[in-house]
Amino acid sequence: MGETQDPIVSRARAVPASAQEAANPTCSMPANFIADFIAEDLHTGRFTYVHTRFPPEPNGWLHIGHCKALMVDFSMAEQFGGKCNLRFDDTNPEKEDSSYVEAIKRDVRWLGFDWEDREYYASDYYDYLYKLAVKIIKKGKAYVDDLSEAAISEYRGTAVEDKTTITHTLSGRNSPYRDRTVEENLDLFARMRQGEFPDGAKTLRAKIDMASPNLLLRDPVMYRIRRDTHYRTGTAWCIYPMYDFQHPLSDAKEGITHSLCSLEYEIHRPLYEWFIREAEVFPSRQIEFARLNLSYTVLSKRYLLRLVQEKYVAGWDDPRMPTIAGLRRRGYTPEALRSFIAQIGIAKNDSMVDIAFLEYCLREDLNKRSLRVMAVLRPLKLIIENWEPGREEALEAVNNPEDPGAGSRQIPFSRELWIEAEDFAEVPPPKYYRLYPGNRVRLRYGYIITCTGFDTDPLTGKIIQVRGTYDPETRGGNAQNNRKVKSTIHWLSCNHAIPLEVRLYDYLFAVERPMEVPPGAAFTDMLNPQSMEVIPLAYGESCLQDARAGDRYQFERLGYFVRDPDTQEAGGTKKPVFNRTVGLRDTWNKIKEKGVI
Ligand code: ATP
Ligand code: MG
Repeated sequence: MGETQDPIVSRARAVPASAQEAANPTCSMPANFIADFIAEDLHTGRFTYVHTRFPPEPNGWLHIGHCKALMVDFSMAEQFGGKCNLRFDDTNPEKEDSSYVEAIKRDVRWLGFDWEDREYYASDYYDYLYKLAVKIIKKGKAYVDDLSEAAISEYRGTAVEDKTTITHTLSGRNSPYRDRTVEENLDLFARMRQGEFPDGAKTLRAKIDMASPNLLLRDPVMYRIRRDTHYRTGTAWCIYPMYDFQHPLSDAKEGITHSLCSLEYEIHRPLYEWFIREAEVFPSRQIEFARLNLSYTVLSKRYLLRLVQEKYVAGWDDPRMPTIAGLRRRGYTPEALRSFIAQIGIAKNDSMVDIAFLEYCLREDLNKRSLRVMAVLRPLKLIIENWEPGREEALEAVNNPEDPGAGSRQIPFSRELWIEAEDFAEVPPPKYYRLYPGNRVRLRYGYIITCTGFDTDPLTGKIIQVRGTYDPETRGGNAQNNRKVKSTIHWLSCNHAIPLEVRLYDYLFAVERPMEVPPGAAFTDMLNPQSMEVIPLAYGESCLQDARAGDRYQFERLGYFVRDPDTQEAGGTKKPVFNRTVGLRDTWNKIKEKGVI
């Protein structure tokens, strides 16, 4: 994918994480408005402690947007000496599953967050929620409705927007069942629970205001009848609480002081407060922050699930996915992800973050930690004509110039080498300083060689090998004596290199904002058909044979790579698979230079 044209980024950019980060690398965030609200609440005595929660619904795997939510939730608790719960928001039996619970827990841990023994499930609160619903009915603030779901939304009315963007709404109409007596409502609600009515035949609704400009307040549904098997409670219940009723009361049950969530819940806040007031429970405070949106991808479980189910990707952990598991398999580190989130900060307005900034944070981290090795992705043979057949020599290579403690290793040199096909040109284009007949280059850690010619296949005319001679005086870069060359290329000794499969990736979507689909198109039409390229036969240094899944390297001149869990087995040879995490070229600095951020 080419460089990004319109790279904007968080409107409210925060100052990079301060010295605080060094003290607690796990989850500190720079100064932000949520911390200000919390400090004020402690100051005024609204709360005497701080307790937050991260509330994923187990209906998909976590994505990088959830990493932001996690960091906000955990860092705010930590900053104020409080705690953060992990709560599965699992009150929708149709879509939830224990495999998602396990995947979520693994990813939260991998990101470096620890909920200790505070693992909760909204589905454990069904009895408590039922009792509170009864309490609200007794107050005359909820009623059983016989309207169908379609009729309810029709009665609710619609929002109309005029040109001044002020929202007017056509008033809703009361349900004919709105004025049932408390006794009748209590009786019907109990019978709903006992399974006397078919799915969809009745709902329990909050009696709020059918004329409210906020449609959510027009008598929202609290319970619906669904005979699905829930992954935890099985068939014990046939009525399930809705999110807007359940969430504030679950927060209250856990004594959550600050219920932090993304911006789309802002219009739900009056409802959140209404249920707390009417149920007379602990008054948690909801505070919203901007969602993370990232260019060239989608951050919504619903859409990601479609990509998995419709097999556009190999699974939730496909290295092109913005899921935590996909990013991990791609070679991202938890440190890079946390540093990215800390640097974009917490804003109040939604914005789009350029994916080039994420890659910049990744390179910063990988540069420090990755061992350097040589690999050749598109091999072409180079014969050193003045090197005797059978002779071998060991050259010294530095493991990581950024980390002197990483030491060095010996790499074998011999007569037949693999070089990158694109490092040779029969006829050099302008400004091409690599190998071409008559030109000299340095072999990384080795000798300066002069290209003496090349051989072609007599049938196809394809170049099959290149020939050259080495200069014994120029070994290992220590003879930088006057023999200047303009280019250094990487290489491998053919007899010592091992075969690899390498997978190269590009952005999953071909457009910056795949959710802004033109009329008549689907978001899947925006997928990038070139998002993955498999190189079935590449070569690498022999040490790569022992790499374990997740081990990270810099392949010199090619980028950062990670050992994938897959191994390809064919004809008795096992080829370890490597994913390219990210290239070496940094587009972010160019973007910054253009003064966009
Ligand atoms: P999705 O839109 O992907 O389905 P969701 O909000 O339904 O996400 P939940 O499992 O309910 O997913 O989310 C758990 C928490 O993560 C919520 O508090 C939600 O506000 C937050 N969250 C989800 N997506 C993002 C995002 N892109 N940026 C920041 N926070 C997010
Ligand atoms: Mg949600």
